[in-house]
Amino acid sequence: MSNFSLSRRKFLATAGASAASSVLLKGCLGNPPTATTTTTDATTTGVAAAPTGANPEQAPETTRIKLGYIPIVESAPLLIGKEKGFFAKYGMTDVEISKQANWASARDNVTIGASAGGIDGGQWQMPMPHLISEGIITNGQKIPMYVLAQLNTQGNGIAVAGIHQGKGLTLDISNAADYIKGFQASQGRKFKAAHTFPNVNQDFWIRYWFSAGGVNPDTDIDLLAVPPAETVQGMRNGSMDAFSTGDPWPFRIVSDGIGHMAALTHQIWKFHPEEYLAIRADWVDQNPRATKVLLKGLMEAQQWCDQPENRAELVEICSGRNFFNIPKTVLNPPFQGKYEMGDGKQAFNDIKAGPLYWKDGIGSVSYPYKSHDLWFLTESMRWGFHRDTLTDFDAAKRIIDAVNREDLWREAAQEAGFDADIPESTSRGIETFFDGKKFDPENPEAYLKSLEIKRA
Ligand code: CA
Repeated sequence: MSNFSLSRRKFLATAGASAASSVLLKGCLGNPPTATTTTTDATTTGVAAAPTGANPEQAPETTRIKLGYIPIVESAPLLIGKEKGFFAKYGMTDVEISKQANWASARDNVTIGASAGGIDGGQWQMPMPHLISEGIITNGQKIPMYVLAQLNTQGNGIAVAGIHQGKGLTLDISNAADYIKGFQASQGRKFKAAHTFPNVNQDFWIRYWFSAGGVNPDTDIDLLAVPPAETVQGMRNGSMDAFSTGDPWPFRIVSDGIGHMAALTHQIWKFHPEEYLAIRADWVDQNPRATKVLLKGLMEAQQWCDQPENRAELVEICSGRNFFNIPKTVLNPPFQGKYEMGDGKQAFNDIKAGPLYWKDGIGSVSYPYKSHDLWFLTESMRWGFHRDTLTDFDAAKRIIDAVNREDLWREAAQEAGFDADIPESTSRGIETFFDGKKFDPENPEAYLKSLEIKRA
């Protein structure tokens, strides 16, 4: 066993250290911005007053950072942190939020860094920060990164093309497995499914869904990385059958008659880990106080996002031309937890079924549990991804210990006075999936053994 810590030891050792320092800084708030940014000034949208009782020891080394985002609901806390002035409130007055064309662009931009025209960090599917740190998706170039917070849970799902109406493509596809596997014989081609980037969340969700129903995603179907717009076009013209996707696409797919929703990720794994904030390790190591200031702003933004009364304003901001650039009518339903599923399935009308940002029904959303990093790497091992690096669980845990900086999250939460919402453990405990499978972070081998379809 490595020194991977899923215990309370570290937390208990440090819990008392800065409990008294929940006061906030003030000294740096008068500083003028050091540069113009591409987004509107935070003060234009109504900001909470700067806190009093500054602690100069918490003043950031820099007020400036450039963070990438993808225009999907996962990025809302970054946009809100900027637009509602939460980053500025704690002292990060120059946060630049930079829209990324796709996940590959985000990866390439963080590889070169903000000083060379790229980004310092931002929003990631998992385990992209681990893969970038290990050089696995960066042509062998290792760019150490730190996972600092989770951005959201839920807000994703599996969409199926309209031609499959009435074929039993729902949460449990056991009864549709023969239909899917028989596609080659009946249609002259395999059943075709897409995600947006290989070996990360959307790939894992659709693989889990297929294999739980008895369909091997590696041999029974074609599963590919395809851009969302191209996938939706393929679902319209009959060349694409399923899509592992996130809000706001599910609403469009159903409301435009392109297809139906087989399942929400909320159904596959309630309150599952989704996307994360991660930043280059060299930036964090150089700016540890600025990192915590940024985290404090993010945490307050996440709390704001989860207040139902703020959701209309959230939609107003995120749908704007400088951010998602989509009609508000597309974003409103998921932020109210309203999902039309289509194909005769019952609709959802539960705000807890949609994207959540600060707390869910199990624990913290914002806190980056190490046990969730371990699930993503265990699932990577299940499918035989990155075999050269993910040789065993000790290797996985070594990578997690290097990348996951839950300690900085804890310190930031203490400084901001969010003590009541700090988890006791780095593990959220045993996780249960819709098909009854259980992932015990203390025994990931047992989870792997319990899965019928796998490459490992
Ligand atoms: Ca996602």
